[in-house]
Amino acid sequence: LSDRLSGVFDRLTKQGALSADDVKAAMREVRVALLEADVSLPVAREFIKAVESKATGQAVTKSVTPGQQVVKIVHDELIHVLKGDAEPGALKISSPPAPILMVGLQGGGKTTTTAKIAKRLKEREGKKVLMASLDVNRPAAMEQLAILGTQIGVDTLPIVKGEDPVAIAKRAKTQASLGGYDVYMLDTAGRLHIDQELIAQAAAVRDVANPRETLLVVDGLTGQDAVNVATEFDDKIGVTGVVLTRMDGDGRGGAALSMRAVTGKPIRFVGLGEKLDALESFDPERIAGRILGMGDIVALVEKAQQTLEAEQAERMIRRFQKGQFNMNDLKMQLEQMIKMGGMEGLAGMMPGMGKMQKQISEAGVDDKMLARQIALINSMTKKERANPDLLQASRKKRIAKGAGLEVQELNRLLKQHRQMSDVMKKIGKGGKGGLRQMAKQ
Ligand code: GDP
Ligand code: MG
Repeated sequence: LSDRLSGVFDRLTKQGALSADDVKAAMREVRVALLEADVSLPVAREFIKAVESKATGQAVTKSVTPGQQVVKIVHDELIHVLKGDAEPGALKISSPPAPILMVGLQGGGKTTTTAKIAKRLKEREGKKVLMASLDVNRPAAMEQLAILGTQIGVDTLPIVKGEDPVAIAKRAKTQASLGGYDVYMLDTAGRLHIDQELIAQAAAVRDVANPRETLLVVDGLTGQDAVNVATEFDDKIGVTGVVLTRMDGDGRGGAALSMRAVTGKPIRFVGLGEKLDALESFDPERIAGRILGMGDIVALVEKAQQTLEAEQAERMIRRFQKGQFNMNDLKMQLEQMIKMGGMEGLAGMMPGMGKMQKQISEAGVDDKMLARQIALINSMTKKERANPDLLQASRKKRIAKGAGLEVQELNRLLKQHRQMSDVMKKIGKGGKGGLRQMAKQ
């Protein structure tokens, strides 16, 4: 993606806001790149649509090019989709013994991943884990798990010839209770393709074990196939999380995006090799960087944005020192407050504002109120913002109406502005150092 995008983006060098044409040109390339990274077509399409509407008209940060800005927007949207609202890595394994059912196609990495997770639970969380192979079709598969168990020092359920998967699951459950295990993991058999027998067997085991987690293990290199497999397993068995294996390969990780967009299932872990510690919690940032392959540009844009914010703050300080504090300044402050975690948090950080903080909490100010105040300021004309003294009754009515609020609320805002303006003047006179320090905080 990197080369392709920089080609287009070199051409997008003018500054200002991102035009629809800029964005369209860039999106054509992003689309091709996503497809090359194995993102499925409908997902790529949906994704592009979301980015396009977010990017068009957005101001381009000083000292970066429009192309670089688009990359940042694409990157942020990628993370948004990849992240969802699930917490990666954290398995629900309270109240022992907690069963974890491992499902997936043959060769996807179930057995290896079972051992990897067992090792992780043992080493990081001090859990006592029992592993059981339910792969009765291939005796070698049961041996494989036993060998892995020895390697990582995790117990495996003794192999009994001629038992069916449901019987093994029952025995694992009993053994886990009697043996005081925290977790028992059921490594099921897979097949080359999803078929009714495979699904029926997995469902029968599920009904016996009543698993706390059902983890689907899929090969991240198989792209669209991985998504189809996930959808099918989730429909028939119910999946609580996904492990994408072979993410150490050449693939760009597009399967992760399709998986999230189509199934909505959390990706819990990624497999990064054959070794038993080659398992990591799913990290949206990292995968986004990989799909996009443009980490440097993202960092550059972030830095430029930070610099810009610092410059704005600096400019504002100079104005305060001259005793200037108009509605535009207040609006910027209000927006900053929302960003920094609400008014109480911010006032608490400012020296000499302890009293204000108390007033704020007593008045029950919250982010919604901040948003209403911003709406009021937006409803003022340029002149009014620069000089709030202009605001007489008729103007006030118009402004309040424009924001869909009461004049009373506007009066409160004006009072607040006056108070803050007084404070700013005082602090401004108190010397540069103090105020700069404050802005940095
Ligand atoms: P199962 O049939 O689903 O149980 O798959 P296995 O666990 O037996 O794995 C099949 C092959 O894939 C083995 O050779 C594993 O070493 C390999 N494998 C599993 N996970 C990964 C991974 O994350 N990266 C790589 N490179 N190989 C893996
Ligand atoms: Mg296996």
